Amino acid sequence: MPAPAVPLPLPQPEAQRRAPARRTQRLPPAADAAKRALALEAHRRLCAEYGCPIGYFQALDPLDELVSSLLSHRTKNRDSARAFAALRSAFPGWAAVRDAPVAAVERAIAGVTWPEAKAPALQRTLRAITEQRGGLDLSHLAALPDAEAAAWLAALPGVGPKTAAAVLSFSALRRRALPVDSHHHRVAARLGLIPQGLAVGPAHAVLATLLPGDWDAQHFYDHHQVLMRHGQRRCFFRNPACGDCVLRDLCPEGHARLGAAAPA
Ligand code: SF4
Repeated sequence: MPAPAVPLPLPQPEAQRRAPARRTQRLPPAADAAKRALALEAHRRLCAEYGCPIGYFQALDPLDELVSSLLSHRTKNRDSARAFAALRSAFPGWAAVRDAPVAAVERAIAGVTWPEAKAPALQRTLRAITEQRGGLDLSHLAALPDAEAAAWLAALPGVGPKTAAAVLSFSALRRRALPVDSHHHRVAARLGLIPQGLAVGPAHAVLATLLPGDWDAQHFYDHHQVLMRHGQRRCFFRNPACGDCVLRDLCPEGHARLGAAAPA
């Protein structure tokens, strides 16, 4: 077990843990510095555990990645990949998906969760891009700064911070953006990187500000990947494997769980 390189965050009192989260909580500078150090140390250890740099799993065009991300919400990767392939084979292009009867789109994506909601939502997003860009093309994102590109995407109907970050990070754009899925979010909350109760959406901005300013896109991608993998392989929703976790000396939740399990 490596020695802790950052001050251990103190476990929060229960009343504070249950308090409703504020969307724009500003930390005092010292607490901010401690959380930045904690994020960096967690990254270092998890990268050693899971092997960084981690290879990108695909390099889709940004519009393809946007459609893929919209389909993937609360859906297994295998099922959303099948639905994406089915859409591409059923229609000659995204303009045809946009203009098709909604029932035809819904049929093509029947394998994802909530196809009846995702089909009209996807068409709304495609129509909004067409109105704003004069066509279905996201190539302008390459010329925008990271934050502006994320804000442009997140202003589209049906697109939140996670989808915006996924498009920027996972697509061929390869930008500095931090998607936060439910596994990543759970590990971050248990470590104390975000306040207990802060939802996934607003957690994106809080977690991104903890990362070093000189990190490149690969570092951001690695950070997301290692926290997500840790949530999938150790920090389970129920019964996290704290005794087998390289972060346990940094983690208030791990301390509480291991302490409670220790013999009297
Ligand atoms: S110590 Fe436990 S709760 Fe904390 S990150 Fe590790 S597995 Fe999760």
